[in-house]
Amino acid sequence: MATDCLFCKIVAKTIPAKIVAENSSCVAFRDINPQAPTHILVIPRHHTASLNDAKDAALIGEMHLMAAEIAKAEGLAERGYRTVINTNADAGQTVFHIHLHLLGGRRMSWPPG
Ligand code: AMP
Ligand code: ZN
Repeated sequence: MATDCLFCKIVAKTIPAKIVAENSSCVAFRDINPQAPTHILVIPRHHTASLNDAKDAALIGEMHLMAAEIAKAEGLAERGYRTVINTNADAGQTVFHIHLHLLGGRRMSWPPG
């Protein structure tokens, strides 16, 4: 755990979050500033700053499969949803503990802004 990391604190449950799913490797919780009717973040328990630092291919896959399971549970799977990982400044990454955004419940535009 990185002691000054917001998302490590959510994993440790020392700061509150609306957790929607968790398993031995990942935790998913509702984004505090939702950009769509459903906006959930999936994070690994183990601190990794960004996709640039990711080493564990299975873990990156598990994050995506957890997002797909949540999308089904939230009723998004048939109409569709978007999964996004922002990496560093040009993509607008603000929290440096890797997280997968799951966005759904409205029509998404493309290309993204
Ligand atoms: P990014 O810009 O890709 O780094 O995304 C960071 C996301 O974390 C943003 O969508 C924020 O709204 C979200 N966020 C920041 N603090 C919290 C928090 N305490 N609980 C839930 N989501 C948060
Ligand atoms: Zn962290």
